[in-house]
Amino acid sequence: MKLSTRITLYYAIFSALLAAALMVVLYSGTANALKGTMKQQLEAAIADTKYRLVTGNHESYDDHDSDHENDYIDDDLTEDEGISLVVLREDGTVFAATDNGMWLADLAQDDDEIETKYRSRNWYVLQDDLDTEHASYTIRAAATTVYRNEALKDMAQSMAVIGPIYLLIGILGAWLLSRRSLRPVRQITATAGEIAEDTDLSARIPPMPVKDEVGELGDTFNKMMDKLETSFQRERQFTSDASHELRTPVTIISASAEDALREEVPETVGDDLKTIQKESSRMGKIISQLLVLSRGYEGRLHYEPEEMDLHDMAASVAELYGGMAAESGMTIHNEIPEQALAYVDQSLFTEVFLNLIGNAVKYGRKGGNVWARARKEGDTWEIHIVDDGPGISPEDLPHIFERFYRADKARDRSGSGLGLSITKWIVEMHGGKISAQSKLGEETEFIITGVPTPKPTA
Ligand code: ADP
Repeated sequence: MKLSTRITLYYAIFSALLAAALMVVLYSGTANALKGTMKQQLEAAIADTKYRLVTGNHESYDDHDSDHENDYIDDDLTEDEGISLVVLREDGTVFAATDNGMWLADLAQDDDEIETKYRSRNWYVLQDDLDTEHASYTIRAAATTVYRNEALKDMAQSMAVIGPIYLLIGILGAWLLSRRSLRPVRQITATAGEIAEDTDLSARIPPMPVKDEVGELGDTFNKMMDKLETSFQRERQFTSDASHELRTPVTIISASAEDALREEVPETVGDDLKTIQKESSRMGKIISQLLVLSRGYEGRLHYEPEEMDLHDMAASVAELYGGMAAESGMTIHNEIPEQALAYVDQSLFTEVFLNLIGNAVKYGRKGGNVWARARKEGDTWEIHIVDDGPGISPEDLPHIFERFYRADKARDRSGSGLGLSITKWIVEMHGGKISAQSKLGEETEFIITGVPTPKPTA
């Protein structure tokens, strides 16, 4: 799962829980507050009635009709406050009541505070006793919970609407925010991916506008790339310097061995001299290949593409290897169509044919064949160099383009393992790609794709 999705998910779960907890607290708080208000109202009504009973003229109670007795109750209770109230004598008979309070007399109430149902409404009932000098009373006051319940229902409904909206806006915000703050990370990943793909060590992450943790990560990554690039440059410089320095002594050794061979020498010395000459010229070849590679990587190699005929290039290389092929009875077939015009650097691309056709002849079987083929693929050429030689084993195949990698060292002593690295580098320099396929004991095929054709002249 993506990090931004995960952050959004965590945020959604967290805010849903938080919102739910908040709503529960808010709802029960409001319910308690509403109940408290109701209780306070009823208590006030009871206290008011008690006050009237205590301060009222008790002597005349019995002379009064029931209406008069109701004077002990505040008339406004019923109309303004919606409170039902009854005052009961000790024997349970009604002493005074509001117009809507008679039902309270029949209530069997043990607790001071109850909730009950009457005429399909819920009521909250509070009762208290009063002992005066002359008599004892029970005062019961009730208020309907309908309004409280309605207020709570309204509140729950609002919450049911607001909750999801809040959650949705929150999730959207979290998603946008996490995407935004992870954008630099995506950039870093993309740049790192580019570097991994093209081994282009000069790629850098664009500087971040904000120097936060992610910005720092980008800077650190760039610093690391600076260091890597410098150390790679140093390594190449070293290779380049070393091969340059080795060139002259090796040439001198080779030339001296050649000179010495012209002299009259005993046979064993002659053999040694031949070995010296052979190995030093091999060393000379390796050194110049190393020089080509390191100069190529440094971009110091001459690269000047021009319109070239692939058929002619292959033909001249085939001619060059003609003698060597004939020695082992091999035939080189140039099947590249005539006038196969490509846009390549002549000397570099000739090196490609030299390496591939050379390898095919060198590693091919006696009496075997080498084919050079090319066909147009859209705007580019696809070149195939095929031989019916012993092939390359699946274990070696993935490594043959590596520097100094040689599949079968015992078979051939003349190679350096650098030819295919150079070939790959040249092909990529031209914007193409090279790959190899092989069936052990049957054939080997090198495929170059994306070789540019000449640009149409405007
Ligand atoms: P080398 O100088 O050894 O030829 P290369 O880089 O040109 O170096 O090739 C690397 C290795 O790949 C060779 O040593 C050889 O084992 C193998 N190879 C290349 N081309 C062929 C081929 N056409 N058939 C068989 N093996 C090959």
